[in-house]
Amino acid sequence: MRLNCISAIIVACLTSALCAASDNHCLNTVVIDPGHGGHDPGGVSKDRKTREKDIALKIALYFGKKISVGYKDSVKVCYTRTDDHYITLQGRADYANSHKADLFISVHINAVDSGKPHGHSVHILGPSRDPGKDLVEGNLNVCKKENSVILLEEDYTTKYHGFDPNDEASYIFMTLMQSAYYEQSIYLASFVEEQLCKGPIPYSRGISQDPFYELWKTAMPSVLLELGFLTNDSDLALLLQDKCLEQIAEKLYQAFRVYKKYYDESMKI
Ligand SMILES: [Zn+2]
Repeated sequence: MRLNCISAIIVACLTSALCAASDNHCLNTVVIDPGHGGHDPGGVSKDRKTREKDIALKIALYFGKKISVGYKDSVKVCYTRTDDHYITLQGRADYANSHKADLFISVHINAVDSGKPHGHSVHILGPSRDPGKDLVEGNLNVCKKENSVILLEEDYTTKYHGFDPNDEASYIFMTLMQSAYYEQSIYLASFVEEQLCKGPIPYSRGISQDPFYELWKTAMPSVLLELGFLTNDSDLALLLQDKCLEQIAEKLYQAFRVYKKYYDESMKI
């Protein structure tokens, strides 16, 4: 990765961030991003019957509908996808930036080789501070897995400015870009985690700072959620029930309500 290229990306992100902040006084646009889609199924259950892309889409649509109903005239809900098609990570970030979103929430479901890990986790942009923490062999591996969809694209080396999801050096450059929205993202993450702990999959694996590509490139407060494990029998049994997905969405909506109140009040000051 060339340094002048990285500098250009950082300047573009900061400029975009400052513009977005000055245009909005209240939280009025949210982008919900169901992870994966199309030829990228994301994680799959042990029997390979349940796919991350389908569960993430269902929760995202439930969540968005609740916001649309609760804030009918004041909040615009946009989705990076509403059906089963593939979108690049860069495409997701571009979509959120072009819609001048005040908030970006990426919805994922975890899956690993072991059946033991379970529960939800909340991620915001940043360096992995504690790679030894039990978030499935260190968070960098989770990031590598989520970011590896970049490799499905033929021209990823030019499109992603040399970013290689398998090269740890790429993550060092990524973490040089400090998020202009760190504080707001932390608040959002804490509100989400608090609510998810009251939901059908209450076990929290914590809030962590991680170098997820789409969080890096969005010029707004953003979180990436891993809402349970398809590879854990207990989590999977819940994730197969629409009622539970709706309950998870309700918890996300409650967190959104708290965050919007905080955000709107902080913008008045
Ligand atoms: Zn995912």
